[in-house]
Amino acid sequence: MERIALFPGSFDPFTIGHESIVRRALPLFDKIIIAIGINTLKKSLISPENRIKMITDVFINEKRVEVTSFQGLTVDFCKKVGAQYLLRGLRTAADFEYERAIGQMNKAMKPEIESIFLLTSTEYTPVNSTIVRDIIMYGGDATKFLPKGIDIRKYL
Ligand code: ADP
Repeated sequence: MERIALFPGSFDPFTIGHESIVRRALPLFDKIIIAIGINTLKKSLISPENRIKMITDVFINEKRVEVTSFQGLTVDFCKKVGAQYLLRGLRTAADFEYERAIGQMNKAMKPEIESIFLLTSTEYTPVNSTIVRDIIMYGGDATKFLPKGIDIRKYL
C-alpha cells in the first residue's frame, strides 16, 4: 500500500521551515499531500488559490508532492484522500503542547491515522508564518524566510 502523508496547515505564507519539513519527510513516504486548511473566519494575506500556486511552484520538480486545499476536519480529509499519516512540524514547547492536544483528539476520532512529528532544523526554529506575514504586510523583505526562488509579490 502507498504510504501517503497529509501535511495540513494555513501556510500563509509557506515558509522555508515548512519546505524543510516536507523535503525531510519525503524519504519516509511515497506521497505527501500539502493541504491548505481554509478557515473562512480568518483573514489571510494570500488567497488559498495563490497559496496553492506558490507551493506548487516550490515543488515543481517533485512529482511525489501534491498541493490542495480543504475545509472541515483534517482527519476527515485524510480519509477522503487515503492518507494514513498526518505530518506536522515541532519547533518549541508551545508547539508541542498544541500539537499534543490536536494529535490526541485526532487519534480519538480516527485511531487508524498516525500523526508523525518532525523536529525543526535548528536554523528554522524562529521562522513563523505570522511574523513572516507581518514583515510582508509592512513592506519588509522576507525573501530569506521563503523557499528559494519565490517572489512573494507574484502571489499577493
Ligand atoms: P497552523 O496554522 O496549522 O498552525 P502553519 O501553517 O503555521 O499551521 O504550519 C503548519 C505546520 O508546519 C505545523 O505543524 C507547524 O508546527 C509547522 N511549522 C511551521 N513553521 C515551521 C518551522 N519553521 N519549522 C518546522 N515546522 C514548522
